Amino acid sequence: MINHARLLGRFLRYVQIDTTAQDGSTTYPSSPGQLVLGKLLADELREMGLKGVEHDAHGLVWATVPATAKQQADRPLPVVAVNAHLDTSPETTGKNVKPHVIRNYAGGNIPLAGDASNTIRMADNPELSRLIGKTLITTDGTTLLGADDKAGVAVIMELVHTLIEHPQLPHGPVRILFTCDEEIGHGIDHVDLAKLGATVAYTLDGQGACEIDTETFSADLATVTVRGVNIHPSIGKGRMVNALRAAAVFIDRLPKTELSPESTDGRDGFLHPYTIEGGVAAVKVKVLLRDFDTEQLTTQADLLRKAAREVVAKIPGCQIDVHIAKQYRNMATGLAKEPRAVANAQEAFHRLKRECRLTIVRGGTDGSQLTERGLPTPNLSTGEHNPHSPLEWTCLEEMTAAVEHLVELVKVWAEK
Ligand SMILES: [Zn+2]
Repeated sequence: MINHARLLGRFLRYVQIDTTAQDGSTTYPSSPGQLVLGKLLADELREMGLKGVEHDAHGLVWATVPATAKQQADRPLPVVAVNAHLDTSPETTGKNVKPHVIRNYAGGNIPLAGDASNTIRMADNPELSRLIGKTLITTDGTTLLGADDKAGVAVIMELVHTLIEHPQLPHGPVRILFTCDEEIGHGIDHVDLAKLGATVAYTLDGQGACEIDTETFSADLATVTVRGVNIHPSIGKGRMVNALRAAAVFIDRLPKTELSPESTDGRDGFLHPYTIEGGVAAVKVKVLLRDFDTEQLTTQADLLRKAAREVVAKIPGCQIDVHIAKQYRNMATGLAKEPRAVANAQEAFHRLKRECRLTIVRGGTDGSQLTERGLPTPNLSTGEHNPHSPLEWTCLEEMTAAVEHLVELVKVWAEK
């Protein structure tokens, strides 16, 4: 039922538009390419025959596939929203992406034509051994691919086309939402939940195939400001208090062999000092606080404050302020309030006779924030591998599987 060639064509078209998010930009979206891709998608949705397609002032694309199922007397059909983001990560350039299609993958390492130092190795990508004979898409090694999240965009566009071509498939209203600047933490800044009007949403931004991300980290950001006393070093004796030294001692007191990204995986959280700037007078250190258990963030903040007190005691004259800002919360709490969000996604896999896994994300998704705001939003696999890297690749059959799953999922929601 899914048109493979058309899905591949879409993906290749979308990744060649540079939508790299630009951190620190003063505009929204942060880069003009996101508007170019948004307009292209809005036009394609209109060409498919959708009415009321909107490419809004912030560059978000909104559309609805009307219901085909009969409304039951006792309840309205739930509205299912599907979301993907238009931007790509600023960590690797997305300019001049030259996608390389490998048909009937024979197995083995995949050298990338544009950069001899970049090879996709089977040893680092064990999932490749399951994909022999499939169609893979890689970069030429000089850019990222942008399957994060243009695989999600292409999957959603192909879902729409499939539903329109097969009006006999019974489903409720399906809301389409493409967002901007997810990679720099602003994916849902301009998402109005009342306007979306959905019962449930799914982000199509997950790795591999057949996974449902049902938990994310809970996250806070600590900004630690260390203040010293600056004075000309020639007369510094007994008077100078060097904030750099104090900051170095502070960072040294943070856990290293536990509670750090370098030493944890699975369900274990961490404290991650990731940026430092300043001089003798003042230094700012930013620290990520992460755990699946939201209450642990308080323990982590206490640990930072304790380290700050110890440094102040050790280096007289310095001051340290620890400021904690909330970022996002584990979606598990919000998903529990609408059990159908995950159960229906599992049921759709079950009907397709596919094994699925419930997985956890050691990070956040736009779904973490949407869920916290009251819209339950698990994340679904969409064929992403090695995101944010020149070694990024995707698999056409995994993208196709994601479309098939969505078709089944909207049918399940019309029934349950
Ligand atoms: Zn993404």
